[in-house]
Amino acid sequence: MVGIGVVPGMAKAKTYLLDEDTVLIEKRIVDDPETEYQRFLAAKEVCGAQLEEIMGAMPEHMAADNREIFDYQLLLLEDTGFLGLIQTAVQKEQVNCEYAVHIAAQKYIALFENMDNDYLKQRTIDMVDISRRLNAILTGKEQKTLTGILEDSIVAAADLTPSQTAGINRDRVKGILLEKGGSSSHSVIIARAMDIPCIVGIEGLLDQAIHGEMVIMNGSTGEVITNPTQAQTAEYEAYTAKEKIEKQQLDRYKKCATQTLDGTKMQVYANITSENDVTALLENGGEGVGLFRTEFLYMAGESLPTEELQYKVYSNIAKRLEGRPLIIRTLDAGGDKNIGSLGIEKEENPFLGYRAIRYCLDHPELFKTQISAILRAGAGGNTSFMVPMIATIDEVLRTRALAEEVKAELEKKGIPHAGAIHIGMMVETPAAAFDADRFAREVDFFSIGTNDLTQYLFAADRMNQRVTGLNSYFQPTLLRAIKHICECGKRNGIEVDICGQAGEIPALIPLWVAMGVDNLSVSIPAIPKVRKIICETRSSDAAEIMKKALLFDSAQELEEFLKQQFSHKEVRR
Ligand code: PEP
Ligand code: MG
Repeated sequence: MVGIGVVPGMAKAKTYLLDEDTVLIEKRIVDDPETEYQRFLAAKEVCGAQLEEIMGAMPEHMAADNREIFDYQLLLLEDTGFLGLIQTAVQKEQVNCEYAVHIAAQKYIALFENMDNDYLKQRTIDMVDISRRLNAILTGKEQKTLTGILEDSIVAAADLTPSQTAGINRDRVKGILLEKGGSSSHSVIIARAMDIPCIVGIEGLLDQAIHGEMVIMNGSTGEVITNPTQAQTAEYEAYTAKEKIEKQQLDRYKKCATQTLDGTKMQVYANITSENDVTALLENGGEGVGLFRTEFLYMAGESLPTEELQYKVYSNIAKRLEGRPLIIRTLDAGGDKNIGSLGIEKEENPFLGYRAIRYCLDHPELFKTQISAILRAGAGGNTSFMVPMIATIDEVLRTRALAEEVKAELEKKGIPHAGAIHIGMMVETPAAAFDADRFAREVDFFSIGTNDLTQYLFAADRMNQRVTGLNSYFQPTLLRAIKHICECGKRNGIEVDICGQAGEIPALIPLWVAMGVDNLSVSIPAIPKVRKIICETRSSDAAEIMKKALLFDSAQELEEFLKQQFSHKEVRR
């Protein structure tokens, strides 16, 4: 089976199949509806207490992100519409309260599922969770949870409710396989925080998975192997043994300076999505934040984040970074990042549509709110901001003008702010890459977004499995484009960073060194490995490899060539 790997890592264990609704609901007519309703109210109290208990037991680092989920469930539990449906069913139709809860929940679920708003759609699972919990209490039957798993297991389920995931026995659950789910679903957010390998979108998982069957999963590639052969098991064991040693060897690269063998200095920054990532960033030796994807702040709630909330988040991160750079990317809505509260209409080609800077410039108040929060956070830290999806000079000029306006307003009100405006742009459209020389005169730094640059350069959707061959970071055309961007940046005296996934591909890192990339911004777990490769690179050798690499015409051949250069190392990860 194959799905989408959303939390990397390999695991091997028996499948723990969590099948659908384990509590059966029967309909009964009751003699004494008043007593029956009292029974429901008592169960509701217990349910609320259980949710409070789960929140109280959460480790500190998980609480901030996940509290919201359970707060929302507590709100649902008090929702007058939901309670009204139950009360009417019990008191007027005289049905048992298990059945009343089930029917009321089904009505809400149908309502949520039919909503256009993705945020509310994702809340369906919270209603499922509440009704299961209530009925487990009412029937006295244990709701199937993952806390009680005593054997090493890989959980397979249609989807996991937030409380099931939060209740996971971390010592025993080695991996998670889901038929549904998306990379921003609640369960995946929690799995990522726990560093449990996870694959979502596995078609036919529940039809094929057998409880107790041995499975090997790879959260990087999305592959699932059932009943592995001896050879596959040996391969897995070799992988984990190697991974363990590699991780230990990498420890020293969490602390040392980032410098090539011949003394070229670089920085390894991290890509983050929330304030919670800062602890892991510092533990892994991140030298700053090269990309804060702020979309997740906008996805977190039903309404847009206020300036105060944004200011708090940005300035807290800046403070915790203690002078290390914090590059905040302005809102990159659209594409695959649908933000319900913005109410953007569904589009035929969202990646070519009303995305990022295009939306922001059309909504200056929203844009200025974010810029204002960023400039204010700059008063107490080393912050700058960059703009995604820039395709024309006009977009840069209008952004700068808005930033100047915001700065003047802050000054007028006597509100402390960064002082100088430091604006960067993401180079991720072919237009920006092609005309990099002109763009470099208008911005303070470049950050190359290789994820989008690759998809747009080759007109190959980054979400479409069928065109992954085109969408390869080993495409020589991509390398030549990046070299051109670097040269334009250097010529105009601005810094050039890479913040897309290509920045952490081991075999490509020497090429980035040779091209004069200043900083690489990578996923947090990749920091030590990226630094190790830079520290083991000699600029003259890298320049030789780059010269040859740039002559290739095919991605496969280039990858093969780089494999030979790095025969003792993994090329892709
Ligand atoms: C990119 O496009 O390379 C990038 C870093 O941004 P995102 O993946 O968020 O589009
Ligand atoms: Mg991008």
